[in-house]
Amino acid sequence: MTLLSLSHISKAYRDPGSDIIVPVLRDVTLNIEAGESVAIVGPSGCGKSTLLNLLGTLDIPDTGDFIFDGQSVSKCSVEMLAELRSEKIGFIFQLHHLMPQCTVLENVLLPTLALKNKPSADILKKRAEELLASVGLQDRLSWKPAQLSGGERQRVAVVRALINQPKLILADEPTGALDEKSAESLTSLLLDLQKSTGVSLVVVTHHPAQAARMGRVLTMNEGELVG
Ligand code: ADP
Ligand code: MG
Repeated sequence: MTLLSLSHISKAYRDPGSDIIVPVLRDVTLNIEAGESVAIVGPSGCGKSTLLNLLGTLDIPDTGDFIFDGQSVSKCSVEMLAELRSEKIGFIFQLHHLMPQCTVLENVLLPTLALKNKPSADILKKRAEELLASVGLQDRLSWKPAQLSGGERQRVAVVRALINQPKLILADEPTGALDEKSAESLTSLLLDLQKSTGVSLVVVTHHPAQAARMGRVLTMNEGELVG
């Protein structure tokens, strides 16, 4: 089953210095199936993060169609998009973006605040505790991000991305700030969770070895998908 499809998407930015319009994505067509894992690779500046932001509905394409889970994204209001994002999409970034003043458990529960149809606090807490246990952090619930290692912080970010039981996880260089061993184990974790939950996973990565472990590898160059 297809989770999302982009067809003939383009996106350009206006160069703030020269006022020239610079194309960033050109005629991108892409389907992502429910439950699949996809890597996006390509040189710096080729448009990977821009593409991921479009997939996450954080940004809107200039032209082309984007259907997410049967819904036409261009026809959605800002409110509908915010609802779609919080219910169906989990985000992981290169830097964990955890709230320093919040505990691990509180950080994981933050995305639930935006949910419209919210399960009870007890159910959410239990879900958070189970997910944290599944990534080996059951003893860290009341710790603060500063007290964790880099790899542990990224695992918290992974759990936070999963807390609302999304259909899609978007990860922009999630292993970019980790050493090789932590990078490898974070990729294993993402793939284990993708298999056990059936979530679709799209990962931008500079590590060829991590990319090769995904079900499919897409290569971008100068705003185009070239393979
Ligand atoms: P990648 O993630 O592959 O390194 P990006 O998608 O971040 O590439 O950026 C692609 C190109 O788009 C770059 O040339 C970047 O400078 C430009 N770009 C990205 N976001 C903006 C923006 N908000 N305004 C202007 N230019 C942008
Ligand atoms: Mg990028």
